[in-house]
Amino acid sequence: MSAQRHDDDWQLRAACRGPHSAAFYPPTSLERRDEKSAREARAKEICRTCTVKEPCLEYALKIRENHGIWGGLSEAERRNLVASRA
Ligand code: SF4
Repeated sequence: MSAQRHDDDWQLRAACRGPHSAAFYPPTSLERRDEKSAREARAKEICRTCTVKEPCLEYALKIRENHGIWGGLSEAERRNLVASRA
């Protein structure tokens, strides 16, 4: 099994697959601050129960993903985590 294939395995078990996925990224139209907070809270609640939270977060950190909720953290929270690990 290649490393790329291994990376993909956790994605198959992601709790955010399917109809929930819209909560994880901002809409294409303008989003108010309170709407963003509510959307991110919904996404983080799904992440809280996700069995692949750890590999998801590490993957997002590895590819320096700049958008969306990954592994229960927003883009700003991931930046802070990277800074704290440095
Ligand atoms: S931790 Fe969150 S973003 Fe990552 S796969 Fe699970 S539900 Fe999706």
